[in-house]
Formats: sequence, structure tokens, C-alpha cells
Amino acid sequence: MVIDIRKLNAEHRYEGELHFTLPPDNGLVTVPLAQMASGIEANGVYRLYEDDTLEVRGKVRFLLRGACSRCLQPAEQWLEAEWDPVFVRGEPEEEEYSYERDTVDLGQSVKDAVLLGMPHVLLCKENCEGIAYGGEDGKAE
Ligand SMILES: [Zn+2]
Repeated sequence: MVIDIRKLNAEHRYEGELHFTLPPDNGLVTVPLAQMASGIEANGVYRLYEDDTLEVRGKVRFLLRGACSRCLQPAEQWLEAEWDPVFVRGEPEEEEYSYERDTVDLGQSVKDAVLLGMPHVLLCKENCEGIAYGGEDGKAE
């Protein structure tokens, strides 16, 4: 998803909404035995400032599907993460993205948000207790 800053300025569209979906990217999935089972949905609003700084406030959302990290049963979970990058023309401050000429590519910021929202485990249910070994009498020694 690329934003044309010159066009927004020309059309005086200094504020607006952003809704787009990137293809699933399993390179971002760090949970074992899990895959991304949806595209990466990005939804937010943008504001373009006089110095051409572009601020985005929104969320990314994706579906993780695979084996429960505790019991290995099938599991899936929608995950959501904050997506609020700031793009400046030229030298970025810490935590900012920079862009050159008149186009801002939002792709990397979406991927960074997904990484921040990636859980350590995928669970089939909130309180999964894991694999039950050997039934009632099968207590581990
Ligand atoms: Zn489980």
C-alpha cells in the first residue's frame, strides 16, 4: 500500500481513512506450528501535516492457525496489534519512518506492527492445561 503525498496535498485530503489487506506472510510468524490463515488487515486513519509528516493511527489484525502450543490440538486465534507509524520526509527521529520524494510505502510498518502483536504461544482455549498423560491414575512421579 503506497500513499502519494503530492496527490493528497493537491487534493487537500489531509485526513482520511485507510483500509487494506496485505497477503499472509509466514515469515512474520514466530509461534511454532502455526501459520497465518488470513491476510493482514490494516485499518486506520491518517493525518498529513504541513511539513508533509504523515501520521497513522490504527490497528492490524490477522488470524493465526495451527497446533495449540500446550496440547497440540488444532487452534486458531484472531490477533490484533496497534499500528501507529509516523513517516517524515528526510531524517527520521527514533521510532519514525522516513520517506523520500512523494511516496510513503506503508508495508513495512504493517509488518512491524504484526511482529509486535505476535504472541509467544497459540492456545486452543484460554486456559488449556496441556496434554493429559495417562488419565486419572497417570500422575507423573
Ligand atoms: Zn490446547
